[in-house]
Amino acid sequence: MLRSRSAALAYSGARAAPRSWASRVIVRGDLGRRARFLSAAAGNAVSVNADRLNRTIHETCRWGEAHRFGPDPTETGMCRLALTDSDAEARRWFVDEMKAQGCKVSVDQMGNIFAVRKGRKEGAPTAMGSHLDTQPSGGRYDGILGIISGVEAVRTLNEHNIETEYPVAVVNWTNEEGARFPQSVVSSSVYAGSTPLADAWALADIADASKTMKSELERIGFLGSVPCSFDANPIAAHFELHIEQGPILEKAKAKVGVVTGGQGYRWYDVQVSGRAAHSGSTPFYSRSDALLCAARIIAKSNEIAKEHRALATTGILTLEPGSTNVIPSSVRFTLDVRHPDIKPDTLDAVERDLIDATFEIALKESELGCDVNWKRTSVANAVQFPPAGVECVKEAGVAVVGEKKVLEIVSGAGHDSCAVSYRCPTSMVFVPSKDGLSHNPREYTSPEDCAIGAQVLLNAVLAYDRRRAAGLV
Ligand SMILES: [Zn+2]
Repeated sequence: MLRSRSAALAYSGARAAPRSWASRVIVRGDLGRRARFLSAAAGNAVSVNADRLNRTIHETCRWGEAHRFGPDPTETGMCRLALTDSDAEARRWFVDEMKAQGCKVSVDQMGNIFAVRKGRKEGAPTAMGSHLDTQPSGGRYDGILGIISGVEAVRTLNEHNIETEYPVAVVNWTNEEGARFPQSVVSSSVYAGSTPLADAWALADIADASKTMKSELERIGFLGSVPCSFDANPIAAHFELHIEQGPILEKAKAKVGVVTGGQGYRWYDVQVSGRAAHSGSTPFYSRSDALLCAARIIAKSNEIAKEHRALATTGILTLEPGSTNVIPSSVRFTLDVRHPDIKPDTLDAVERDLIDATFEIALKESELGCDVNWKRTSVANAVQFPPAGVECVKEAGVAVVGEKKVLEIVSGAGHDSCAVSYRCPTSMVFVPSKDGLSHNPREYTSPEDCAIGAQVLLNAVLAYDRRRAAGLV
C-alpha cells in the first residue's frame, strides 16, 4: 500500500523531519542516552520490553481464563464479561499498576478508566485506548493486547526517563464487546456524545434483566464521578493497538496494519410468513414454504454482496413450528451487510437490490408465495480516521518493520477508536491474527507480533506528541 502516491509522500516526509521532532522530546538522564535517542530513526527511540509485555498479557489473563484447549498455561481462551467480578479484578490491577507507574487515575460515569502520565506541558493527553472485557468465548488478545501495550508503553517511557511534551494516557473503555450489555463500543460512544448516558446506564445484562450497567458499575466500585464526556474530559488523540481479527495481514505477509477507518454496516430483521402444512400430503405446487423462501433470500444476499464487493451475513435464524413433518410457516432471520465506502451509496445499492430480489423470490420462487417483511434495525456509517493520526501510525510502522511489511487496511469490525474518531485524531495499529481467527478461544498473535504492535503504538504516540509540540497538528 505504501506504493500509493499519498503513502509514499508520507514516508518521505517522515524521513525528512524526525530530527527536529525528536529534539522536542526531553530525555532526562545521561547524555549518552540522549545522544542515542536523538540519532535514532523516525521516532524509534526506545524499545518496549517484549518479554515483559507478553508476560503481563498472560499473567493478567488469569482473571477470566476459560475454555482450555491444550496443556500449556496460555492455551485457554477468555470469558471476562464487562463489569463481572473477573473484569473488576483486571480493572483493579490496571488501576494499581498505573498508579505504581506514577499515573493519575480517574474513572468516569461509564467506568472508563483514564490513567494519565504527566508531560512537560499541561494539556489533554494523547491516549492509547482499548478494552479489558472479552466475549464469553473470546481469546487472550482482543482488547487485552491494546491495554497491556499501553501499560508497557508507560513502563518503557518511565524506564528511559522520557518526558513527553504533553501528557499521555492509557484508557480502558467499558463493555466494548457489547456481549453482556447489548451495545458494543457503548462507553466510548457516550464519551463521544453519540449515545445518551441514561440509555447506556439502563442497558440490561442479557442474562439477567435485573442488572443494569449502572447497577453493576456501582456494585464493582467503578461508577466514577468524572463526566463521561469528551468535552468535559478531552483527549488530544486516540491510538489503539488491536489484533486484526481477519486474515488480510497474514495473507499479505505484512506485520503492521495502518488502519485508515472502519466499514459501514446495516442490520436487518427479515420476517418470512408462509403456511404450515403436512410434509407428506402437500404437493410442492400448493405450499407456502417460509424456510425455502428464506433460504433463497439468504443465498441471494451472498450473490448480491459479492457483486457490490460488500459482505452479507445471516447470524440468527429461527423457524416455526419446528417439526420434521411440517412445512415451516414462519422464519425470522437477521442480515448484516457491510462495506467500507465512506459514502452510503454502495450500502444503499445493496439494500435496493436485496429488497427487489426478495420480492421476486417471495412471489415467483416460493411455490404459492410467501409474505416478507423487512426491518432495518441498525445503521452505522463507515468511518474514515482523520489523517493526523493515520500518518503517525504509518510513520511508526515503517520505522519498526520497513515499508514492505506495512499495509493500509480498513477495519472490518467496530472499535472504540471508530466512536471517538468523530472527536479527535484517531488511528489504529493492527497486528496479524493467526488464521484470521478472533472471538474464539484459539485466537492467537505471536509474542513477536505483539511486541511489534506495542512498539508501533508507542512510536505513533511519540510521533503525535512531537507533531503537536511543533504545532503541526
Ligand atoms: Zn476488541
